[in-house]
Amino acid sequence: MSKPLIIITGASSGIGEATARLLSGLGYPLLLLARRLDRLEALDLPNTMCRKVDITDRIALLAAVAEGEAKYGPADAIVNNAGLMLLGDMTEQSPDEWDRMLDVNVKGLLNGIHAVVRNMVARRHGTIINVSSTSGRKTYPSHVAYVGTKHAVHALSENLREEVAPHNVRVTLIAPGACNTELQTITTNQSIKDGFKAWKESIGGVILQPEEVAETIRFAYEMPQNVCIREIMLASTNQTV
Ligand code: NDP
Repeated sequence: MSKPLIIITGASSGIGEATARLLSGLGYPLLLLARRLDRLEALDLPNTMCRKVDITDRIALLAAVAEGEAKYGPADAIVNNAGLMLLGDMTEQSPDEWDRMLDVNVKGLLNGIHAVVRNMVARRHGTIINVSSTSGRKTYPSHVAYVGTKHAVHALSENLREEVAPHNVRVTLIAPGACNTELQTITTNQSIKDGFKAWKESIGGVILQPEEVAETIRFAYEMPQNVCIREIMLASTNQTV
C-alpha cells in the first residue's frame, strides 16, 4: 500500500532536514517547506514537493499544502518544526527579536496546525507533531523570549490534543535538548554564543544529533494510530539542565 503524505516545515536544515531524509527513505511522499528553496531542492528526495514558504505567511502556507495534497493526497501528518532561537537578556534584547520568535515559533506553528487539522478531524485520521524544546518545560539564562515561545508550544499542543483526540487525531510533542544544528548560530549576542560554546565544551562537546531527533519523530509517528505518544523529551545524557 502506498504511504501517505507528510508535511515538514523548516526542512532546509537541522532536525527538519534529517526528518525529511529519514521519512523519504521509508517511502513517504513529502511536502517540504522553508524559505531556502535551494536547500530543500538540494536534498533531491523522490516523491517530494519543495516550496519556498515563510510559515508566518498563512496564505502561502495554505496554498502550498493544497498543492501538495492535490498531488499526493491528504496529509496524514505535519511536522511543525520550523523555528528560530535568538537568545538575549531582556535588559538588552531588541523587541524585533522576540517579535520574530513569537511570529515563527508560535504563530507560524499555529498556521501549520490550521492548514491540516480540519481535514484530519473530518477524515478521523492524522498526526500533528510539534517540535518544542526542553525550553518548553524549563528555563535557562538569556532565554526569556525563546522559553516563552516554547512553553506556548507545549501548552497549545496539550490543549489541541484534548480537542482532537475524540476525532482520532493525534498530537505529539517532541522536546529536544541542545542539538547540533544551525539554531545556535543566529543569536546576535556574541558573548551569549560564546557562553553556549563553553557550556557545550564543559559537557564534553556531546549534544544531540539531528538524526537522533528525527528517529524519535519517526518512532512516535509510526506507532499505530490508536497510540498517541503525547510527549517525548530527549537530550544528550550529559545535559544536566
Ligand atoms: P535550524 O536552524 O537548523 O533549522 C530551522 C529551520 O526552520 C530551517 O529549516 C529554517 O529554514 C526554518 N525556518 C526558520 N524560520 C522560518 C520561517 N519563517 N518560515 C519557514 N521556515 C523557517 O535549527 P533546528 O533544526 O535545531 O530547529 C528545528 C526546531 O527544533 C526549532 O523549532 C527549534 O526551536 C527546535 N529545537 C532545536 C534545538 C537545538 O538545540 N538545535 C533544541 C530544541 C528545540 P529557512 O531558514 O530556510 O526558512
